[in-house]
Amino acid sequence: MIPGWFDGTHLIGTRCTTCQAVFFPPHQGFCRDPRCEGEELVPQRLSRRGTVWSYTNACYPPPAPFLAAEPYEPVTLAAVELARERIVVLGQVKDLAVEDLRVGMELELTEGTLADGPRVWMWGLPR
Ligand SMILES: [Zn+2]
Repeated sequence: MIPGWFDGTHLIGTRCTTCQAVFFPPHQGFCRDPRCEGEELVPQRLSRRGTVWSYTNACYPPPAPFLAAEPYEPVTLAAVELARERIVVLGQVKDLAVEDLRVGMELELTEGTLADGPRVWMWGLPR
């Protein structure tokens, strides 16, 4: 689990107080919108449900800070669009294969266990 990204219920992004744009992962410093001069970013809980924008299976270990088991087991990844925040959040999908996913289907934030043990947030079917 990466500290500061997930509060047990919601993912935590940051919102620019100048232009209201939301970013994930959370960061500090300057607004990432080049048209905005905002420098105040505040924590923002993200919507728990979104729709699949794209998906794939990851046949190679992911880059840091994500963790992978040895030997590596392919995982399902989905880029989920959050309508209110107007962002896409990439994450591992729990208990679904690429064959189960369709663009536009709804997924909900959940928790799962990585192959090497840590509990992390994942995308899953709405409950
Ligand atoms: Zn801004």
